[in-house]
Amino acid sequence: MRNYPDFLKIEDLLTEEERLVYDTVHDFVSNEVKPIIADYFERGEFPIHLVKQLGELGFLGSTLSEYGGAGLSNVAYGLINQELERGDSGLRSFVSVQSSLVIYPIYEFGSEEQKKKYLPGLIDGNLIGCFGLTEPDFGSNPGGMKTYAVKKGDKWILNGTKMWITNASIADIAVVWAKTEEGIQGFIVEKDMPGFSAPEIKHKLSLRASVTGELIFEDVEVPEGNRLPLAKGLKYPLMCLTQARYGIGWGALGAAIDCYLTAVDYAKTRIQFDVPIARFQLVQKKLADMLTEITKAQLLALQVGRLKDSGKYSHYMISMLKMNNVRMALDIARTARDILGANGISLEYPVIRHMVNLESVKTYEGTEDIHTLILGQYITGFQAFSLLK
Ligand code: FAD
Repeated sequence: MRNYPDFLKIEDLLTEEERLVYDTVHDFVSNEVKPIIADYFERGEFPIHLVKQLGELGFLGSTLSEYGGAGLSNVAYGLINQELERGDSGLRSFVSVQSSLVIYPIYEFGSEEQKKKYLPGLIDGNLIGCFGLTEPDFGSNPGGMKTYAVKKGDKWILNGTKMWITNASIADIAVVWAKTEEGIQGFIVEKDMPGFSAPEIKHKLSLRASVTGELIFEDVEVPEGNRLPLAKGLKYPLMCLTQARYGIGWGALGAAIDCYLTAVDYAKTRIQFDVPIARFQLVQKKLADMLTEITKAQLLALQVGRLKDSGKYSHYMISMLKMNNVRMALDIARTARDILGANGISLEYPVIRHMVNLESVKTYEGTEDIHTLILGQYITGFQAFSLLK
């Protein structure tokens, strides 16, 4: 049973199938994720045993109707992201990467052989993928990447380093973007290819229940059959990011809802000056602002989802969704942490975990600044990313 803020009866706008998915993913997160996730976070470990269940429940590549995909709407996919992030941003990150950054490019830009070879395993959870775009010197500006691939007979020789890659050391395959003589292209690198290594990045204080690592390529020989044939240019990895950013916009809602519910519950039971702190007007203002911001963010997510389902969306809308909803969630997490007082810094409550996770979510998939500039370009027609152009 969900006990959620649904102030504007947004559930009434969902289809029957979407409500069913909502119930299923809600119960999965409540029963399988919530009870264990703080321990995994504290140990700095990804709950890899959940991956097969994610596949069995149809949560991986869920909008595809081929190769074993559940064929769900984009709104249902959004609800999956919301609920998983109510559990933890790390688990939602896993699903975003697998679905939007690995399954999506193979499905959209891959050959029939590549689709048959990789998609069924990625969708049922038997294969794990990662997406290598960011490099140590190129984050917001991926077009400057140094990783390059040179054609030699029927192979490509790949050299370079990717940084901050989700799932890196647990992935069976990596979708890697590299410069070639014909522009940026995508390659499917398998974990056992000689010259390829994926060391884990340690000492993270955010997304601790998610694996992050480097991808290092030293003269890796990638067969021509592993090049994505339909993707030439920076536009193609950016198309993948648009898919992932959409899911993140929904996911952030889940973290915000969990923080809000925790704060309301705490405020009603924490006694100071002989009354529950929920009696104080300053506390009520914080809670009222939270509910208002969550409600606005729900409407934004739902409308962008409906436009995506009808093919009428633009990447500008998705920038607004990602920028607004992550900012909203981070603000709510920080305010909830404040309402919980000293308990707000303890892992006994989910709030500080969501708060530090959201610091990564704010940065990855286009920082808040970058999405602001994307909207600035939409409004004014001027690009303000590069001062040299
Ligand atoms: P920079 O680009 O160096 O930015 C630093 C600051 O400068 C930011 O505040 C930024 O907004 C600002 N800035 C940069 N350019 C401008 C500008 N033109 N105008 C105004 N301000 C600007 N990448 C992948 O490819 N695959 C993954 O799976 C992946 N997973 C990740 C997981 C985690 C936990 C994290 C933290 C990152 C992950 N990333 C991944 C990388 C992520 O996408 C980058 O960190 C992000 O794009 C920002 O790049 P950067 O860290 O190099 O910051």
